[in-house]
Amino acid sequence: MTRRTDVVVVGGGQSGLAAGYHLRRLGIDHVILDARTAPGGAWQHTWDSLRLFSPAEHSSLPGRRMPVQPGQTYPDAQHVVDYLTDYEKRYELPVQRGARVSAVHRDGAFLRVETDGGDWQARAVVSATGTWNRPFLPAVPGRREYTGRRLHTVQYQAPAEFSGQRVVVVGGGNSGAQIAADLAHAGIDLVWVTQRPPRYLADDIDGRALFDVATARRRALDAGRADTGGVASLGDIVAVPPVRTARDAGLLNPKPMFSRLTPTGVAWADGTTAEADAVIWCTGFRPALAPFSALRLRGTRGHIATVGTRAVDEPRLHLLGYGDWTGPASATLIGVGRPARDAAREISALLSP
Ligand code: FAD
Repeated sequence: MTRRTDVVVVGGGQSGLAAGYHLRRLGIDHVILDARTAPGGAWQHTWDSLRLFSPAEHSSLPGRRMPVQPGQTYPDAQHVVDYLTDYEKRYELPVQRGARVSAVHRDGAFLRVETDGGDWQARAVVSATGTWNRPFLPAVPGRREYTGRRLHTVQYQAPAEFSGQRVVVVGGGNSGAQIAADLAHAGIDLVWVTQRPPRYLADDIDGRALFDVATARRRALDAGRADTGGVASLGDIVAVPPVRTARDAGLLNPKPMFSRLTPTGVAWADGTTAEADAVIWCTGFRPALAPFSALRLRGTRGHIATVGTRAVDEPRLHLLGYGDWTGPASATLIGVGRPARDAAREISALLSP
C-alpha cells in the first residue's frame, strides 16, 4: 500500500520534532517516521551520568521552554526524553513509531519513501536521522589481534561494569572527557588517550556560548566575511562539573594516542605499553544517511552537499540536525529550531503552486 503526504520527515528525535513543529505551523501535511518504538531519539540510550552542557532554559526546542530539572543546573538525559515526549504530545505531532525507512527513491514528481510497513509518496522529505546509529571507529593497527572488550560511546552505560578492570578511553572531545571523568570518579584503573592535548573551554563557557559562536560564524561566512573559526576555536571540551572536578583533582592525566593495539592492550611508538581489559572509543559519529544512498548525493566525509538545509542536487530533500553544515549548531537542542524553520519555509515555497 502506498500512502501520500506533502512531507515525510525521517527521524523523530529532536530534529524531526522541530521540523514537525514548523511544518504544522505552516499548515503543511506531513508525517514523521521513526524507527524507535519510544520517544526521545538518541537521548534514550546515553550513559547514566550524562548531563547536558547547557542549562535547561538554553536547551529548548521552538515554542516550548525546557522546564528546569529540580536540583540540577544541567539536566540529565531522562529529563530530555521527558521533555521531547511532552513536546510531541503538546503539538500533536504525527509521529509513527517502529517505522524504519529503508530507502528513498525519485518517483516522478514525488520522492518514494520505503518502510517495512509500506511506502509513502511525498513532495518533499526531511532527513533527521541523527548520527547515533553510525558510530565511527578509526582503523588502528592491531585492532583484529586485540582480545579485550571493544566499545564505542554508544555502548557505554556506567562505571560499575568495569569494576576491577583496566580501561583505556580514546578521544579528546566531550564524550571522551565525560566518560573518562565518570570512570575516574569511580576509581577505575584508567588510561585516557587523546590525539592532541585536551583543549578545555574556559570553565565559565557552556553550550550557551557555543550556540552564539556557531551563529556568528555562519553569519560571517554568509556575508562573505572572514571565517571566525567557530566553536572549534574555543576548545573541544565543555568543562561540565564532573569533568572539572576530575580534572582539578588530578584524576584526568591524558596520554598521547597509542600507535597500535596489542592482543592484551595498547602500545605507543616509543615501546611503552598498557594492558587493557576494555577500550572505549569515543571517536565520534557519522551522519546516518544510508536510506538516501539511492539518490546518489553523497559528497565528502559522508555528507550531502547543502545550501542551508536543502540538498544542492535534490531540492526536495532537506537535512536537519547533523552539524554546522546543516545550520549553525543544528546538532543541538537550542540550535535546531532555526534551520528547522528555514527548511519548513523553503518546503512551503516549493509546494506552492
Ligand atoms: P537523534 O536523537 O539520533 O534522533 C534521530 C531519530 O531518527 C532516532 O529516533 C532514530 O531512531 C531515527 N532514525 C534514524 N534512522 C532512521 C530510519 N532509517 N528510519 C526511521 N527512523 C530513523 N546537544 C545539546 O543540545 N546539548 C547537549 O548537552 C548535548 N550532549 C550530547 C552528548 C552526546 C554524547 C551526544 C552524542 C550528543 C549530544 N548533543 C547535545 C547533540 C545532540 O543534541 C544529540 O545528538 C541529539 O540526539 C540529536 O538529535 P537528532 O534528532 O538530530 O538525532
